[in-house]
Amino acid sequence: MDKKQFRTESKKLLDMMINSIYTHKEIFLRELISNASDAIDKRYYRSLSDNAVGLSRDDYAIRLAVDKDARTLTVTDNGCGMTAEELENNLGTIARSGSFDFKNEHSEETTENVDIIGQFGVGFYSAFMVADKIVVESRAIGADTAFRWTSEGADGYTVEPCDKGEVGSAITLYLKADTDDEKYGDYLNDYRLRELVKKYSDYIHYPIRMDVERSRKKEGSGEGENAEYETYTAEETFNSMVPLWRKNASEIGEEEYESFYRDKFFDFEKPARVIHTHSEGATTFDALLFIPKHLPYDFYTKEYKKGLQLYSSGVMIMEKCEDLLPDYFSFVKGLVDSADLSLNISREMLQHDRQLKLIAKTIEKKIKNELGKLMSSDRETYEAFFKVFGTQLKYGLYSDYGMHKDVLQDLILFASSREMKMISLKEYVASMKEEQKTVYYACGETVEQIDMLPQVEAVKDHGMEVLYCTDDVDEFAIQMLREYDGKTFTNVCTGKLDLATDEEKEAIKTENENAADLLAFMKESIGESVSNVRFSGELKNHPVALASEGEISVEMEKVLNKMPGEGNKVKAAVVLEVNADHAIAEKLKTLFADGEREKVANIAKVLYAQARLIGGMSIENPTELSDLVCGLIL
Ligand code: ADP
Repeated sequence: MDKKQFRTESKKLLDMMINSIYTHKEIFLRELISNASDAIDKRYYRSLSDNAVGLSRDDYAIRLAVDKDARTLTVTDNGCGMTAEELENNLGTIARSGSFDFKNEHSEETTENVDIIGQFGVGFYSAFMVADKIVVESRAIGADTAFRWTSEGADGYTVEPCDKGEVGSAITLYLKADTDDEKYGDYLNDYRLRELVKKYSDYIHYPIRMDVERSRKKEGSGEGENAEYETYTAEETFNSMVPLWRKNASEIGEEEYESFYRDKFFDFEKPARVIHTHSEGATTFDALLFIPKHLPYDFYTKEYKKGLQLYSSGVMIMEKCEDLLPDYFSFVKGLVDSADLSLNISREMLQHDRQLKLIAKTIEKKIKNELGKLMSSDRETYEAFFKVFGTQLKYGLYSDYGMHKDVLQDLILFASSREMKMISLKEYVASMKEEQKTVYYACGETVEQIDMLPQVEAVKDHGMEVLYCTDDVDEFAIQMLREYDGKTFTNVCTGKLDLATDEEKEAIKTENENAADLLAFMKESIGESVSNVRFSGELKNHPVALASEGEISVEMEKVLNKMPGEGNKVKAAVVLEVNADHAIAEKLKTLFADGEREKVANIAKVLYAQARLIGGMSIENPTELSDLVCGLIL
């Protein structure tokens, strides 16, 4: 019979499995059992609409069997089975392309970074970590013939007809020979198999059975020393079948949660936080939620759908129930099980279901509280979480006209000028000076660049903290908040720092009035780009800075104009601020008084370009600037 070749990507994965030095090879059993359980699920669902294909619910089972002489372990299920074509398509290639991409990226590290293997739901192929030959015999629902798929690893596989009476699949592993380091023969012992089922597959809701040998006292034999024993075979169910979420949280080990999460939600990393909750009252439900550590690979694509699995008394009724999660928590994975929901409820009806709305509300509150707890109890993990999903939360704050403020405002972090740490708004307000009326923030591309803004230096000099906004959404979210704990927000680059004393304010006002002609001339020289030029007393030792007037700040202008769409470009009203206490101010006044208008005009243009650079913007006309600077030097 001709051997068929595995597809290229499957072959690579297969090589990794065969040559794996990964120490958790035991996970192969979890993978095979979970495939078996999925196959039974499929048959069960089909039987709901087609009576002919089903068994009575109690007859579904997964069986383990060993043959010690032949060194084989067989995992049998009476699930949906596979046709010859399905055997080829499903076992000759890798199902989840996302997993493969990840592995591809790491293919260079196969020997050192083998941990990836164990952390992935690598599925069927993982069996090649412990077996050098695998035989799958399968009969699909409604098929007349069964087929046998055989492979001894990377050199290919064969598919041929075989005899198999029952619908379902039997996967037989020919275990590798023992080595000094690896005792593959252990997987022939029932106690080892029982231990593995308990560890990884306890919650599987079909029984995982095995015939095990036990010993008992022979009937009629004597007592004590005269007792005679005999061995007999009895069938034992290894798993408790209680869904993980129905168990008491105190009985569940971290590892059990983690392997459940990886297995069910296809993640290669453990979650950042597990939320297991039982709720009683207006509505009763169990929820098991996970906050991932990293962005799902398709998170920012149209394909990504938020939602939680929905169960009614242990039976899944919906794979992804969107209504259970608000958009800003769309990264949360997990499931909800409630007896208050009807098994036959339709998607449309669910949307209006009062129970479901109550559940969603409770879940939202729970996620909020858990994230809050994480922030206060394990700041490092929270900050790592925020790095990944913080933008999502900030968009949530901005969306729906700030309606979700109460849920989100205390979960947001900003970099702060004080020690460059990430802080919450609550922490900012708590350390505010008594006379400080407003929360200061500044926007820019990077924390370093913002930190150098003259206005930021001025606020810091007054012993006050500045929040550094580097995310596009930051300022929009802050504007939507309007205030926090009765404190308003002030962008330090809007000329409203309000740090000066009344006297100083009066002085700068007079200064501006006296120099009105000079300032108007400078504005005219720079042109349309600025709406105003003025002297400022709040720029420390720096000659110039940019500020803005009105609703739209310079940063918001940048963000809004980046968005797709023609025309209608938004413009901030930009103000060039010149430091009234800097020598450049005197110079400008003298030159203007001496009638050196061209020079004043050129200096104004150079100053404007400098201010743009300080604000992290590009220069509108670099060639002109270069000529101007040379003109001033020579
Ligand atoms: P995954 O389970 O992650 O999709 P696997 O490599 O484990 O990937 O399995 C590939 C496919 O083979 C499965 O999606 C399923 O369609 C099929 N399969 C595997 N085991 C069984 C089984 N016991 N019964 C029926 N189909 C199976």
